[in-house]
Amino acid sequence: MTPTHSRRLLIVDDNQAIHDVMRRILQGRPGSTLADAHAALFGGPAAEQRPRFRMDSALQGEDALARAQAALAEQDPYQLAFVDMRMPPGWDGLETTARLMAADPAIYIVICTAYSDASLEEISQKLGPTDRVLILKKPFDPVEVVQLSNALTERWVGQRAASQRALELETIVRDRTAEIQRASMHDKLTGLPNRALFSHRLDAAIARHRADPTRRFAVAFLDLDRFKHINDTFGHACGDQLLVDVAARLKGALRSSDHFTSEPSTSARLGGDEFLVLLTDLRSEHDVALVANRLLATLGRPYNIAGQRLRVSASIGVATSDTPYAAAADLVRDADAAMYRAKAEGRGRFVLFGHDMKTEAMERVAFEADVRQAVDDGLFDLHYQPIVRLADNEIVGFEALLRWRDGKWAGRSASTLVAAAEDAGVAHALNLWALERAARDFRTWSNTGCDVRLNLSGKQLLEPDLLVRVAEVIEDLGGARNLVVEVTEATFVREPTEARSALERLAALGVRTYLDDFGTGHSSLSCLADLPLHGVKLDRAFIGDLSGDPRHARIVGSVIALATACGLDVVAEGVENAADLARLRDLGCHHAQGYWLGREGDNAHVLALLGGTESGND
Ligand code: C2E
Ligand code: CA
Ligand code: CA
Repeated sequence: MTPTHSRRLLIVDDNQAIHDVMRRILQGRPGSTLADAHAALFGGPAAEQRPRFRMDSALQGEDALARAQAALAEQDPYQLAFVDMRMPPGWDGLETTARLMAADPAIYIVICTAYSDASLEEISQKLGPTDRVLILKKPFDPVEVVQLSNALTERWVGQRAASQRALELETIVRDRTAEIQRASMHDKLTGLPNRALFSHRLDAAIARHRADPTRRFAVAFLDLDRFKHINDTFGHACGDQLLVDVAARLKGALRSSDHFTSEPSTSARLGGDEFLVLLTDLRSEHDVALVANRLLATLGRPYNIAGQRLRVSASIGVATSDTPYAAAADLVRDADAAMYRAKAEGRGRFVLFGHDMKTEAMERVAFEADVRQAVDDGLFDLHYQPIVRLADNEIVGFEALLRWRDGKWAGRSASTLVAAAEDAGVAHALNLWALERAARDFRTWSNTGCDVRLNLSGKQLLEPDLLVRVAEVIEDLGGARNLVVEVTEATFVREPTEARSALERLAALGVRTYLDDFGTGHSSLSCLADLPLHGVKLDRAFIGDLSGDPRHARIVGSVIALATACGLDVVAEGVENAADLARLRDLGCHHAQGYWLGREGDNAHVLALLGGTESGND
């Protein structure tokens, strides 16, 4: 650690007389420092607390380098070196400077040179672009020497403190994010993986199956029979205990079934009395039946809970990788449908998802087709939700959210629409429509200073001609400052290089970009620091429990502090009550969004919110 009040300088000059002069200026004689000059002119105490600088001398560059290395090793580095340009017979000033900087990238260097010495061009040619090297012309003025010494060491100390703080915060955030992610991937009660982790593993199984169709898998959806009755009769504590026991039996049964499979099976709790099991690398349907029957037998053995002997059966529905729609959510839904059939057929059994259960699957196909048609027919709408600046409660912009205008799919969520559009291969068209629609709506409130914010899915972001259209729309919008693009964190996990270059191109156009749903993915804040992002949107998973769970408040505080230190704007999503809003304000959050601050609505709603702004050209 470097004591702040004692800064360390290195004077490198082949002329001993210069060392004496520098010492006089910086350490000693009255009348030689700025403070003294100030005192002499305006009265007051002469420079106090001297010597302020600890100074070492080197007569040659080689010696200077050795000293700088030793100082680093002692963890008491030089903040600043004055380096003479000409020091025969050894290295010259430039060589010395280059070596000092290579040894200690944080050091500041003042090169002392006469007019006839190397030009500025030569210096920057040799050293490359740097803001750590300054030039002082000889003969130098003592005031200049003092000013440079004060200013540069001051800057060094400031930078050191800032980078240490950032490092500390980074560690805190990394640890806490990991902690929360661990917690957010497992069910609290049973310790089993939750839906998120299960989906993750299921996605992996789907990918393996796509690469090699012989690697079959099955999803079993398991629901306890009459669990509600047990809960109501024996109380919730007993119900919870039963769930814990069921989880333990599931794990045990799968472990002993693993000889059917080459990857370990995963069991997960969805919530309530619903469990999921992923069976990987199955040889045949016969294996599925074996495992399912084994699970039924294991779970059907009596339980001993609070002195009671209880018997509980389970119903299991199974969907396999042989069904044509191999998206994780689809398979779970098929398994769920099969489970309902198992219940209907008398409980305590397992049913394999079959063709007669295809209604839902058919509906999905119809939905996809309709989405494709709706893109052509313009059956979508954009709704806008305000983003509020916490400093003055002003609305600064609106996030555009996709809606199906009306008809049988009107209630579907935006993410379902986007996912279906992606599956149907029309996501890009949808996206272009949204860009243009947002631009048209924006023109009706462009005079309010609010911007418009669009979501782009990972796939959309990577469309090659997206940038061209964005550039066109920017012109329509009256400038890039009016457009913000939100991209989800998952994009950067899946296609880091491509996503980064798309972001860079957006930034080059002047479009601000935000990382959406921050905290749900796996990117660390340090990797954000070098993405050309304008800000992050903290996922509502963190905000939801802000006033309840102190861990969430701590992590949100750390994320805000670090993002701020990295120069990023922070928008908190999903603010649903005054307590969370107040908490965010205390934690220094810049912007917020959520039902508490304003729901989304159509463009008329925006105009009403903005206080009756007149319609533009629409
Ligand atoms: P998102 O970007 O995180 O958008 C915010 C979502 O949170 C919206 O859901 C919004 O209605 C909801 N929300 C806002 N405030 C609150 C709150 O206080 N509490 C709760 N619980 N929810 C709140 P929505 O409209 O269903 O959108 C879901 C996701 O679909 C969006 O998440 C976004 O990722 C995506 N999306 C929406 N519109 C588009 C679009 O035009 N293009 C693309 N690519 N994606 C879109
Ligand atoms: Ca968003
Ligand atoms: Ca979000």
